[in-house]
Amino acid sequence: MRKYQEGRERKLTELVCNCCGKKLTVENGIAVEESCHIEIPWGYFSKKDGENHIFDLCEECYDKIIRGFAVPPMVEERTEIF
Ligand SMILES: [Zn+2]
Repeated sequence: MRKYQEGRERKLTELVCNCCGKKLTVENGIAVEESCHIEIPWGYFSKKDGENHIFDLCEECYDKIIRGFAVPPMVEERTEIF
């Protein structure tokens, strides 16, 4: 979950893991702890048509959740770091 300060430019003020509620560190509008940010625009073939679901997971919760996957996520090495 992300909270922003609205103004001339939108500034991130709070970042919370939706799974465990842990507050992740935000400094000067920048998340300095990585999170898994998910935005799902559910569509016509779902039961949530027209809804966007948005959440963040801390790295520990992400690891816990993917350990429960029957098929693990595909992992690629990034050649460009951004
Ligand atoms: Zn968490």
